[in-house]
Amino acid sequence: MREKRELPPKNERIIEPFRLFGNVYFIGSYGESSHVIDTGEGLVMIDTGSTPNLQIVLNGLEKLGFAPTDVKYIINSHWHHDHTEATRAMAELSGAKTLIGREDYEKAKRFFDADIIISEGDTLTLGNTTFEFIETPGHTKGTLSIFFNAEDDGRTVRAGMFGGAGVNTLHQGKFDYEGCREDYRKSVRRLMNEPVELFIGNHSWNNHTYEKWLDLVETGENHFVSHNAWIRFLESCERRLDETIAKDNL
Ligand SMILES: [Zn+2]
Repeated sequence: MREKRELPPKNERIIEPFRLFGNVYFIGSYGESSHVIDTGEGLVMIDTGSTPNLQIVLNGLEKLGFAPTDVKYIINSHWHHDHTEATRAMAELSGAKTLIGREDYEKAKRFFDADIIISEGDTLTLGNTTFEFIETPGHTKGTLSIFFNAEDDGRTVRAGMFGGAGVNTLHQGKFDYEGCREDYRKSVRRLMNEPVELFIGNHSWNNHTYEKWLDLVETGENHFVSHNAWIRFLESCERRLDETIAKDNL
């Protein structure tokens, strides 16, 4: 990835729907990520975004040649509106079943009533893909991290998403729940044991979705599969946690 490129202001960054790798596609916006995985027997969507993101997601599906009814499941990484507000409408349009982590189920009810409640170690299989979930509390109590094998022309890579990386809820007075900082650190360290090669962003700035997409479009080089991007990001998460705690202690 080229390091010092000139980028437009954040509110002008538009990402066209595209394929990250094999059967994994991005269909969200710069601010709100949404992905679909083509399992051969339908799509699994990860996050829908807020209400204004719904049209972006629907356009994205269409541009990639999919129909809303191809979506069979919607995994919601955590309850916040920028990941789930459009889930109810998307589920109605598609007939898809919705999933949320057990500790976020009640809070998510303001946006949708999940069909399937996920606990540690649960899996979801559709077509050729099995999604594995681990509970990674911190950003919210019910944050789910998601892992699966992505396929591209006979090559298999381990894909993973940290389902809630933001330290915005770890500031004093902004806590999702008591003990969130300790949980966040434990979650980050636990995720470091996962051998992720295809790092999928819960927000585009997690894995530099925008910059890597520009690279893909401009040079044809695909930087989404990486052996160290996942670990580097998790290390930065722990640093940001330490900075957050230090700031509050000033
Ligand atoms: Zn959030």
